[in-house]
Amino acid sequence: MNTDLEEFLTRLDGEIRAEGDWGKPADYIPELARIDPAQFGIAVALADGTIVTAGDAERRFSIQSISKVFSLACVLGRIGEQIWTRVGRESSGARFDSILLLEREQGRPRNPFINAGAIVTTDELLTGRSPKETLSEIVNFVRAAADDDDIHIDKTVARSETETGWRNAALANYLKSFGNLKNPPELALGTYIHQCAIEMTCVQLARAGRAIAGLPGATSIISPAKARRLNALMMLCGHYDGSGDFAFRVGLPGKSGVGGGILLIAPGRASVAIWSPGLNAYGNSKMATLAAEKLAQHMGWSVFGGR
Ligand code: GLU
Repeated sequence: MNTDLEEFLTRLDGEIRAEGDWGKPADYIPELARIDPAQFGIAVALADGTIVTAGDAERRFSIQSISKVFSLACVLGRIGEQIWTRVGRESSGARFDSILLLEREQGRPRNPFINAGAIVTTDELLTGRSPKETLSEIVNFVRAAADDDDIHIDKTVARSETETGWRNAALANYLKSFGNLKNPPELALGTYIHQCAIEMTCVQLARAGRAIAGLPGATSIISPAKARRLNALMMLCGHYDGSGDFAFRVGLPGKSGVGGGILLIAPGRASVAIWSPGLNAYGNSKMATLAAEKLAQHMGWSVFGGR
């Protein structure tokens, strides 16, 4: 079975590179804009403990919004269901940085994976702690999930987003105006931006997702009940206004980041990390989405059955 997967991933790597239609890296964070889009990596962590890879699976990339899954897991561990008084769990049908929705919902973001919602969850983690302590909590959680201490924040990417992240600054201030930030907006925003700048390889990310996939030996860090909820949110909200399209094409829960990464979960079977920096119109990786679609189809992994 693993030989089949190894052969498939090698073939997939070749197909993606031959396709050559990479998309464009995120341009609103200058440090991400200068990354060569012609890169592709994939790592699949299986239930039997093995990890199968292809392409640039050992290259570090900025996980960006994928970090929101881990900060939400931390918040659920800390205050449990109470977080839902501050943030909803419905798909947004809007851009990841939409401010319009926030006005409509009176300062309660639609879900924890759009930027406004993630700023709220980070603000919750920040309460009673310094930004440094909060970031250590998040990074240490990711390290524990991946069982790898060599995971860090890329300060250059964080600085780059701090210098140009005007929309997120607007969202943080707007949340504060509705009374839905406990901390000063600049502290919540700074912590959020640094959390997004965690860099990981596909191998590290696939390992970190094992608990969410409920793989044997990995469930102590995220309980099965929490993993079930994270998967539901990833399925409905993990790709912003492209979530329906992703569910339709791939049929598995996933979370994208503007760094070009996707964490894909085949519950009980595998945790998959795919990376290619060029994005589609929704701000999700173009080639990583295509690879996710082909992998799920090849393995018959859709949570909806069929192929
Ligand atoms: N740090 C990015 C932002 O807030 C994350 C967005 C994403 O990865 O989708 O704009």
